[in-house]
Amino acid sequence: MSPSLPVRWDLSGFFPDFDSPERQRFEKALADDAASLLARAQKLSPLDGDEATADAWEAALLEYEKLLARLSHLSTYVTCLASADAEDERFVLAEGRLSVLRAAFDKLSVELRRALAPLSDEPFEAFAARPALEGARFFLWRLREESKTTMAPALEGLAADLGSHGIMGWGRLYDGISSKMKLDMVWPNGRRERVPMAQRRSLMADPDRAVRKAAFDAGNVVWAEASDVLAQALNHIAGTRHLLNERRGVANFLDVALHQSAISKKTLDAMFEAVFARAELPRRGLAVKAKAMNVSAIAWYDLEAPLPLPSAERVPFERGAKLIREAFGRAYPRLTTYFDSLFERRWIESEARGGKRPGAYCIGSDLTEDVRVFMTYQGSLGDVSTLAHEVGHAFHAEVMRETRVFARQYPMTLAETASTFAESVLSDGLLADPSLSPVQRALLLGEAVGDGAAFLLDVPTRFAFEKKFYEERRSGELTATRLSELMAETQREVFGSALQEGDEDPLFWASKLHFFIPDVTFYNFPYTFGFLLSRGMYSLFKQEGPAFLPRYEAFLKMTGSAMAHEVARASIGRDLESPEFWADAIETLRGPTEELERLLPTVLGAPEVVGSRE
Ligand SMILES: [Zn+2]
Repeated sequence: MSPSLPVRWDLSGFFPDFDSPERQRFEKALADDAASLLARAQKLSPLDGDEATADAWEAALLEYEKLLARLSHLSTYVTCLASADAEDERFVLAEGRLSVLRAAFDKLSVELRRALAPLSDEPFEAFAARPALEGARFFLWRLREESKTTMAPALEGLAADLGSHGIMGWGRLYDGISSKMKLDMVWPNGRRERVPMAQRRSLMADPDRAVRKAAFDAGNVVWAEASDVLAQALNHIAGTRHLLNERRGVANFLDVALHQSAISKKTLDAMFEAVFARAELPRRGLAVKAKAMNVSAIAWYDLEAPLPLPSAERVPFERGAKLIREAFGRAYPRLTTYFDSLFERRWIESEARGGKRPGAYCIGSDLTEDVRVFMTYQGSLGDVSTLAHEVGHAFHAEVMRETRVFARQYPMTLAETASTFAESVLSDGLLADPSLSPVQRALLLGEAVGDGAAFLLDVPTRFAFEKKFYEERRSGELTATRLSELMAETQREVFGSALQEGDEDPLFWASKLHFFIPDVTFYNFPYTFGFLLSRGMYSLFKQEGPAFLPRYEAFLKMTGSAMAHEVARASIGRDLESPEFWADAIETLRGPTEELERLLPTVLGAPEVVGSRE
C-alpha cells in the first residue's frame, strides 16, 4: 500500500462528469427504454404454456435485467455525488428524477407478477428451466409467490391510490408530527432549553446519566401529549394491513415480513426460541454496565449510554487502515487483497470535510461492477469498525460478480452477513494485538456486549410487542393506554431483572419510528437475524479455520438464490430451522461478556463507594 492513502473517491469510471452529454444521454435512454418495455409487457398475455408467449416473456425478462443493471449504474453515481456534496441542487433534482424512474420499474415488476401468476408448479419449473433464465429461478419464484397474494389489478390499483391518502398518509402524519416536536430540556445545572426531538436520541446516549434522564423525561412529556393521535395512526396502519391481508388471502400478518426477509416461519421460531431461552447472557452484559455506572440495574434511558471509560486516543486514518489490513491479512488474505484494491482504484470516500451527508454505506453498479464505499472518518475506534463493515459489504458484491443480476437481489436478513463478518475479523485481530491499550480493549469488548443487548433484548422486545399488538388489533382498536401497558409489560418480560422495575419506557411504541413505517412491517427481527447469523458464521470460521472460507464465499454467492435456510444448508451445512445454530451464535457472546466483567473494574479504577445504603 502506498504511504499516503487516498481519502477521496474517483467517480470517473461512471461518467466523465455529471453534466457530460454521456450522462444525459444515458439517463434519457434508460427512461425511454423502461417506458417502451413497459408498454410492450402490458400488451403480453400471461404465461399459459404457449411457447411464443414464453419466448416473449423471456425476452422481456432479459431486457428488464439489463435495465436493472443500468438503473443501478445511474443511481449509484447520483447517490455518490449527492452524499459527497449535499449542497449541490443538481444532484437533489437528479435524485427526484430517479424516484420517478423507479416507479416505472415498479410497474414493470407488476407486469412480471401478472405473467407468472397463472402458472402452477410444473409449467413454472419448465419456464424457469429455460437456459437463458439459469440462476433466476428464485427471483421468478418470489415474484410468483407475490402474485398468489395479489388482488385483481383494478383492486390493487385502487388500494395503491387510496393508500397514498390512507396508510401512507398515516406514516406521513407521524413524520409530520414527530419532526416538529420539541422538548423542554432541563439540564442538570437547572438551565432550560427547548430542543428538537431529533436530538433526544443523542442526548440519551450522553455519558452523564442526569442528562439522559432529563432528555428521557422531557421527551416523554411530549410523546404522552401526542399519544392519542399517534395511537390512532398506529391502529389505522395495522387495520389497513389486516384488511388488505384478508383481501389478498395472506394467512398470517407475519407472512408478509417473512417473505420480504426470505426466511421460513420455522427459522424465525427457532431463532426466537433460542433468543428468549438465553436472555440471561445479554442481561448479564447489561448488569456489567449497571455495575460500572454504580446502579443496581439499568433504566431504559441507559440502553444507549457509553460505558463510563476514560476517552481513548484518536486513530489517524492511515493507522486505522493499517489495523484493518493487518487483521484481515492474518485471518483472510483474499479480503486484504481486495481491501488494497479498493484504495488502488480509489473506491473509498472517507475524508472528514463539511458538506457531506452523514452515515456510511456501500453501493455498486451492476453494469460496470464499480463499487464505492462512503463514510466520514474522524478517528474513533468505531470509525475503524465502520470502514471494515463497509468493506465487508463491498466484498460481498465482489463475490457476487459471478452471478447474474437477478441472483444479486438478496434480502435484508442476509445483507449484513459479510459486513458484520468483516467487523468480527477486525475486532478479533485487534483483540489479539498486544499494543492495544486496556481502555481500547474494554471499548471493543463493550461494543460486542452492547450489540448483544441491542439485538437480543431491545430488538426482540420490539418484535414481541408488535406481534402482540397485531394479534390484539384483530378484535378492535387499542387505546394509547393499552399500547403503553403492552409495551411496558413486554419490556419487563424480555429484559427481566436487567431493567430496573419502574424504569421501563411505556411510550416507546410512540417514539420509535419503526412501528410507523407504512411500507415495511416488523422492521425489527431482520436485525437480530443478521447479527446472529454472522456471529454463528464467524464462530464456525474460528472452529474450522481457513477451510471454512470457501464455504463462506459460497454462502455469500447464494444469498440472492434461495431462502436463508436453504442457502445455509447448501453452503455451510447448518440448519437454521433448529434452535441449536442460534444458541451457538448467542454463546459467542459469553467470552466477551466474561472478559469485560473482569477487565472493566481495572480500567474504571476503584469503584466509588456509595455511602452505606446497601
Ligand atoms: Zn451494513
